[in-house]
Amino acid sequence: MTDSVDVVVIGGGPGGAAAATLVAQKGHRVLLLERAPEPRFKIGESLMPATWWTLERLGVLEKLKASPFVRKHSVQFFGKSGKPSAPFYFQEADPHESSVTWQVLRSEFDALLLDNAQEHGVEVRRGAAVKDVLFEGDRAVGVDCGDAQIAARVVVDATGQSALLARKLGLLQRDPGLRKASVFTHFKGALRDTGIDEGATLVIHTADASAWFWYIPLPDDRVSVGWVGAPEVLAGHPGGDPQAFFDQQAAACGEIRRRLLDARGARQVLPIQVLRDFSYRSSQIAGDGWVLVGDAFGFLDPIYSSGVFLALQSGALAADSINAALATDDPSAERLGAHGPGFVAGMEAMRKLVYAFYEPEFSFAKFLARHPGHRGDITHLLVGNLSRPSDRLFAAMGEMVRLPDDARLAEPAAIGGPR
Ligand SMILES: Cc1cc2nc3c(=O)[nH]c(=O)nc-3n(C[C@H](O)[C@H](O)[C@H](O)COP(=O)(O)OP(=O)(O)OC[C@H]3O[C@@H](n4cnc5c(N)ncnc54)[C@H](O)[C@@H]3O)c2cc1C
Repeated sequence: MTDSVDVVVIGGGPGGAAAATLVAQKGHRVLLLERAPEPRFKIGESLMPATWWTLERLGVLEKLKASPFVRKHSVQFFGKSGKPSAPFYFQEADPHESSVTWQVLRSEFDALLLDNAQEHGVEVRRGAAVKDVLFEGDRAVGVDCGDAQIAARVVVDATGQSALLARKLGLLQRDPGLRKASVFTHFKGALRDTGIDEGATLVIHTADASAWFWYIPLPDDRVSVGWVGAPEVLAGHPGGDPQAFFDQQAAACGEIRRRLLDARGARQVLPIQVLRDFSYRSSQIAGDGWVLVGDAFGFLDPIYSSGVFLALQSGALAADSINAALATDDPSAERLGAHGPGFVAGMEAMRKLVYAFYEPEFSFAKFLARHPGHRGDITHLLVGNLSRPSDRLFAAMGEMVRLPDDARLAEPAAIGGPR
């Protein structure tokens, strides 16, 4: 081994930055290795209000308030007829400063979090790709960067969709109900709403309701626009060209056409991007000497913009487990995964709402017409207050659509080392 630290964090996205910062704050030696040499474009631009609480722990709220990121007060859903729901204003559920959040450029947001990690004592190395996690028996003991091997008491995998450890250990499980693809880009000069709605995330169904678009206003007159639907629809497009596919889908969707194509001067400013098969979960969140954070543990779906929130929250909760484990010199699976069951229960609440969205019989307007008393519960979920909604909400929703059973973590004892 060429170096030795308390904790090595692989990946410098929001999950890795949160975990690293909160462990370094306790005085431990933390090394964060990020593959990308420079901040770069990344998807995941719309935050959930409940990110506030981790961002506050990280000490970045003042920087965010001073940033040019667009303020987001609400989310609004457009049905297949083009008719919009009433906006879900987060402040209705929670009249607090935290209910207004941000639409961010991820290159700048991630850089802000990494710089902040460095200010809190984390040693950050950019352009450092980890090749492998090193094990002695079932215990992770460090990482291999090709030219260097670094020993660590705890290895945090925050590698996003690369999910280095979950793939290596064979823990990754796809969510068969959420097999999707996405095609997305940025525009400048597109139509923007005004006033409190200027920064709203819009979720717009296509005319046959088989797919949907996001519309996310960003700084510098940019708007992020993305299509999400079945991978077969994209694959079946004649010629297989994602740009032609996006153009066709955008032209066929009334509300998107109105905002992009009918707006004089709107122009695409980012090459078309494609992602597929992004929904999965690891059957385990921690093992002896290792813990998974953010997308490296699991990703649900883009629909409610929960990814960065869950990454930040799991990073902060993992940091609490790591700090407790280091304090007792016991970096075992049980200690490092102590936060797992509570975190997964919250994720499961969100997964139910995701499943409901994709059921053809479901719409928020229809559900709230039958159950107006649940509007607050739904707004709480959209805020990210995942422990707030009652079982009664899902019982009522379950009468209308099929909801998935709760998934649980495997017992730590069932997980071995690398196969
Ligand atoms: C289509 C789509 C739309 C989305 N929209 C939203 C949205 O609007 N709002 C939202 O909150 N979320 C959204 N998400 C989810 C969001 O992008 C992720 O959940 C979030 O980025 C996860 O953060 P993370 O820190 O876990 O991983 P990431 O942000 O992916 O960071 C992982 C980091 O690890 C680095 N890395 C990977 N492998 C290695 C290695 N071997 N060595 C060193 N470094 C490595 C990568 O370079 C990367 O910087 C969306 C996702 C998809 C697929």
